[in-house]
Amino acid sequence: MRTLITGGAGFIGSHLCERFLAEGHEVVAVDNLLTGNLENLDPFRSNPRFRFVGHDVSNPLKVREKLDAVLHFASPASPVDYLEFPIQTLKVGSLGTHNALGIAKAHQARFLLASTSEVYGDPLEHPQTESYWGNVNPVGVRGVYDEAKRFAESMTMAYHRVHGVNTHIVRIFNTYGPRMRLNDGRVLPNFMYQALVGEPLSVYGDGKQTRSFCYVTDLVDGIYRLLLTDYHDPVNIGNPAEITILEFAEEILKLAGSASRIAYKPLPQDDPKLRQPDITRARQLLGWEPKVGRDDGLRRTMEYFKKKIGK
Ligand code: NAD
Ligand code: UDP
Repeated sequence: MRTLITGGAGFIGSHLCERFLAEGHEVVAVDNLLTGNLENLDPFRSNPRFRFVGHDVSNPLKVREKLDAVLHFASPASPVDYLEFPIQTLKVGSLGTHNALGIAKAHQARFLLASTSEVYGDPLEHPQTESYWGNVNPVGVRGVYDEAKRFAESMTMAYHRVHGVNTHIVRIFNTYGPRMRLNDGRVLPNFMYQALVGEPLSVYGDGKQTRSFCYVTDLVDGIYRLLLTDYHDPVNIGNPAEITILEFAEEILKLAGSASRIAYKPLPQDDPKLRQPDITRARQLLGWEPKVGRDDGLRRTMEYFKKKIGK
């Protein structure tokens, strides 16, 4: 199989490239490096089955090789990033998704959209099942990301219904691991950096909001399985092990053996209070569930950040 991965130089995209290469695929990665990094490609850049194309997928793109699958992962993903690039985020979620679907249609390739737990907004149902329609503020600051992804899901279903494209939608919950950008502003890189250099850990609000963190190789495995099905409705992929942000800070301090203190900072606008995936559908459909616990995953990720910081 030959697979196109948009956002291939990003955190998740680069792990996908690596997995698809390991499965014997040819991989074409397309990325404009807005939030990604060519260094993420270093482990496989010289693989003859890999090709990198520098391109903004919000503009049309023609791929010369015959493709069997298109995975659309290009988009800023960290709240700090999408607040810095609100219009690019809306464009890559809408125009970029349209272009990626057009490529899949032209090549009669499978298509997979990277959607997000953010389509549930600040959820009023807990845990979140795929049947929940969400609670999103369209004019709030996070709306640029949430609504772009909701539009992307609608566009994907329309290409399936109208053009018969074999589409897939994964709703990704908070994922972590090596190759996250140290300064992407997400909670894990922030806390790990702060713990390792001895700065206070910036807990937003009272720290009682929850998240459920999934290690990246588990996510990639779920995505790989989903792509090979003929299932078109959204599927949550995440680790249901839920934790408050304050507990998370304490876990990272302990792991780093750090004496940093906690510094409370204002809670960002529309920050979801609770988030936990219901993964019944993924279990039944894909026989998938996460294998890497937080202990192990955080340890592996901290090793990566230690090297990055030079400690
Ligand atoms: P990331 O920022 O590391 O990767 C995104 C990549 O997309 C970057 O390499 C960036 O340069 C590229 N990109 C952005 N706009 C582009 C454009 N117009 N054209 C070409 N390339 C473009 O983020 P990530 O965490 O790896 O997220 C990847 C995908 O997964 C995103 O679509 C995101 O919405 C989704 N997702 C991630 C998470 C998570 O926890 N990491 C959760 C839910 C959904
Ligand atoms: N957060 C925090 N300190 C930080 C960064 C984030 O307390 O330095 C909180 C944030 O308010 C949110 C949670 O951690 O409640 C997860 O934030 P992140 O930006 O990683 O992703 P989100 O799940 O909000 O998209």
